[in-house]
Amino acid sequence: MSDVPVSGAAFRETFLQALDQVLAAPLFAPLLPFLTREKREMILSFIERLVEANRSLNLTAITDPAAIAAKHVGDSLTCLLVGDWPEGASVCDIGTGGGFPGMLLAIVRPDLDVCLVDSAGKKVEFLASVARELATPVRTVHGRAEELGRRGEFRERYDVVVARAVARLPVLAELCLPLLKRSGWFIAMKGPAGREELAESGRALRVLGGEAHEVREVALPLDAGQRTLIAIRKEGSTPPSYPRRPGIPAKKPLL
Ligand code: SAH
Repeated sequence: MSDVPVSGAAFRETFLQALDQVLAAPLFAPLLPFLTREKREMILSFIERLVEANRSLNLTAITDPAAIAAKHVGDSLTCLLVGDWPEGASVCDIGTGGGFPGMLLAIVRPDLDVCLVDSAGKKVEFLASVARELATPVRTVHGRAEELGRRGEFRERYDVVVARAVARLPVLAELCLPLLKRSGWFIAMKGPAGREELAESGRALRVLGGEAHEVREVALPLDAGQRTLIAIRKEGSTPPSYPRRPGIPAKKPLL
């Protein structure tokens, strides 16, 4: 591992090369018009700051530049391949952590109105400062999805709600669906067992007003693994009793 660069010119070069390889995969062909050289450089700037901040904050377990390119950047962008992301759509990333996928969406699709939500204040502070430095227009919100889902400013306000690596689908649905407008899309970014989670989510989706429309399995480039994208459309409104109080969706999932 000692020959893997962690910063400086070697890191930048390795990262950009790996990123070009990742984005050259046929999977990303529909996104190519958005993936200009300038955007790739912006992604690099974001990743450099992330790796730097990661010394004191727990933002990512992955620090190898090629692995970041595939497993964080490539993976984050896959959500744009399902559902519907119209020009200017309002998007909320629940449990964004170090900014995945939300920061990538904001960089690659500056037309989107992106809100990054996390319950960890330090992560949100980091994202707010990177967004300022890079002049990426995102809104950052420190809070729990269960609370935001009950506030008028956030409830049923988004065209797309996305989440990666936050909770199992029956729980995640309760965190995300209340924030969605009718006809909006909830995109759950899951690992290889995504279909099994969907099979457990029938009741949660029925109760919360969601309906699964598309399940897409993707193989990340550079052998970075299998992912499952689940696109759920909000067909009905969410009853006022949801989301339940913080922690309850995880403790008593709608199974
Ligand atoms: N989406 C990122 C981070 C995943 S880790 C990625 O894929 O890399 C899960 C994140 O969700 C953590 O940062 C945690 O603070 C946040 N989180 C967990 N439960 C939450 C909740 N109920 N509301 C908001 N954020 C939550």
